Amino acid sequence: MSPTLTAGQHAWLQAMLKQRQHTLEAQLSSHLHGLSAAERAAEVLAQDGDDAPQRLPERDIAAALTAAEQRELQATGAALQRLTQGAYGLCSDCGTTIPFDRLKVEPSALRCVPCESTHEAARGSRA
Ligand SMILES: [Zn+2]
Repeated sequence: MSPTLTAGQHAWLQAMLKQRQHTLEAQLSSHLHGLSAAERAAEVLAQDGDDAPQRLPERDIAAALTAAEQRELQATGAALQRLTQGAYGLCSDCGTTIPFDRLKVEPSALRCVPCESTHEAARGSRA
Protein backbone atom coordinates (compact mmCIF):
# COMPACT_ATOMS: atom_id res chain seq x y z
CA MET A 1 0.00 0.00 0.00
CA SER A 2 1.43 3.32 -0.97
CA PRO A 3 0.32 6.85 -0.16
CA THR A 4 -1.52 8.69 -2.88
CA LEU A 5 0.95 11.52 -3.15
CA THR A 6 2.22 12.61 -6.53
CA ALA A 7 5.96 12.63 -7.13
CA GLY A 8 5.87 16.42 -7.04
CA GLN A 9 4.05 16.52 -3.69
CA HIS A 10 6.42 13.92 -2.33
CA ALA A 11 9.47 15.95 -3.36
CA TRP A 12 7.97 19.17 -2.02
CA LEU A 13 7.23 17.64 1.38
CA GLN A 14 10.68 16.13 1.56
CA ALA A 15 12.22 19.55 0.87
CA MET A 16 10.00 21.12 3.56
CA LEU A 17 11.00 18.51 6.11
CA LYS A 18 14.69 18.88 5.36
CA GLN A 19 14.46 22.64 5.66
CA ARG A 20 12.60 22.28 8.98
CA GLN A 21 15.24 19.87 10.19
CA HIS A 22 18.00 22.38 9.37
CA THR A 23 16.15 25.21 11.12
CA LEU A 24 15.55 23.14 14.23
CA GLU A 25 19.13 21.96 14.37
CA ALA A 26 20.34 25.55 14.16
CA GLN A 27 17.90 26.68 16.85
CA LEU A 28 18.81 23.81 19.11
CA SER A 29 22.50 24.41 18.87
CA SER A 30 22.06 28.08 19.70
CA HIS A 31 19.94 27.20 22.75
CA LEU A 32 22.36 24.57 23.84
CA HIS A 33 25.04 27.21 23.70
CA GLY A 34 23.21 29.18 26.32
CA LEU A 35 21.46 31.98 24.46
CA SER A 36 18.51 33.35 26.36
CA ALA A 37 15.27 32.18 24.80
CA ALA A 38 12.89 33.27 27.52
CA GLU A 39 10.69 35.41 25.31
CA ARG A 40 10.13 32.83 22.60
CA ALA A 41 9.89 30.11 25.21
CA ALA A 42 6.97 31.91 26.82
CA GLU A 43 5.11 31.72 23.51
CA VAL A 44 5.92 28.06 23.03
CA LEU A 45 4.85 27.20 26.55
CA ALA A 46 1.63 29.16 26.11
CA GLN A 47 0.87 27.09 22.99
CA ASP A 48 1.77 23.88 24.73
CA GLY A 49 -0.50 24.78 27.55
CA ASP A 50 -0.53 21.49 29.43
CA ASP A 51 0.82 21.80 32.91
CA ALA A 52 3.44 24.48 32.54
CA PRO A 53 3.94 26.30 35.83
CA GLN A 54 3.24 30.02 35.85
CA ARG A 55 6.79 31.13 36.41
CA LEU A 56 9.89 29.24 35.46
CA PRO A 57 13.48 30.18 35.96
CA GLU A 58 14.93 31.28 32.64
CA ARG A 59 17.20 28.29 32.50
CA ASP A 60 14.23 25.95 32.84
CA ILE A 61 12.36 27.80 30.11
CA ALA A 62 15.33 27.37 27.80
CA ALA A 63 15.44 23.71 28.75
CA ALA A 64 11.73 23.28 28.06
CA LEU A 65 12.09 25.03 24.73
CA THR A 66 15.04 22.85 23.84
CA ALA A 67 13.03 19.76 24.75
CA ALA A 68 10.15 20.93 22.52
CA GLU A 69 12.56 21.48 19.65
CA GLN A 70 14.14 18.10 20.21
CA ARG A 71 10.70 16.48 20.04
CA GLU A 72 9.91 18.27 16.80
CA LEU A 73 13.30 17.46 15.36
CA GLN A 74 12.69 13.83 16.20
CA ALA A 75 9.24 13.94 14.56
CA THR A 76 10.74 15.59 11.49
CA GLY A 77 13.48 12.99 11.28
CA ALA A 78 10.93 10.19 11.65
CA ALA A 79 8.81 11.70 8.86
CA LEU A 80 11.84 11.84 6.55
CA GLN A 81 12.52 8.22 7.37
CA ARG A 82 8.93 7.27 6.54
CA LEU A 83 9.31 9.14 3.25
CA THR A 84 12.26 7.01 2.23
CA GLN A 85 10.51 3.84 3.41
CA GLY A 86 7.33 4.61 1.50
CA ALA A 87 5.22 4.64 4.67
CA TYR A 88 4.82 8.38 4.66
CA GLY A 89 1.38 9.98 4.46
CA LEU A 90 -0.50 7.09 6.07
CA CYS A 91 -2.16 7.55 9.44
CA SER A 92 -0.23 5.62 12.10
CA ASP A 93 -3.47 4.77 13.90
CA CYS A 94 -6.04 3.84 11.25
CA GLY A 95 -3.84 3.53 8.14
CA THR A 96 -5.89 5.94 6.07
CA THR A 97 -4.19 8.29 3.64
CA ILE A 98 -3.48 11.66 5.23
CA PRO A 99 -4.67 14.40 2.82
CA PHE A 100 -1.93 16.44 1.18
CA ASP A 101 -3.60 19.60 2.50
CA ARG A 102 -2.88 18.45 6.04
CA LEU A 103 0.69 17.38 5.26
CA LYS A 104 1.30 20.74 3.61
CA VAL A 105 0.57 22.46 6.92
CA GLU A 106 2.18 19.83 9.11
CA PRO A 107 4.64 17.72 7.11
CA SER A 108 5.59 15.64 10.13
CA ALA A 109 1.96 14.70 10.89
CA LEU A 110 1.65 11.08 12.01
CA ARG A 111 -2.13 10.84 12.06
CA CYS A 112 -5.18 11.89 10.11
CA VAL A 113 -7.25 14.67 11.66
CA PRO A 114 -9.86 12.46 13.42
CA CYS A 115 -7.18 10.22 14.96
CA GLU A 116 -5.10 13.22 15.99
CA SER A 117 -8.12 14.69 17.80
CA THR A 118 -8.74 11.41 19.58
CA HIS A 119 -5.08 11.15 20.49
CA GLU A 120 -4.95 14.67 21.88
CA ALA A 121 -8.16 14.20 23.82
CA ALA A 122 -6.70 11.01 25.29
CA ARG A 123 -3.60 12.87 26.39
CA GLY A 124 -5.84 15.34 28.20
CA SER A 125 -4.45 18.44 26.53
CA ARG A 126 -6.75 21.36 26.08
CA ALA A 127 -6.85 23.48 22.92
ZN1 LIG B 1 -6.35 7.97 11.33
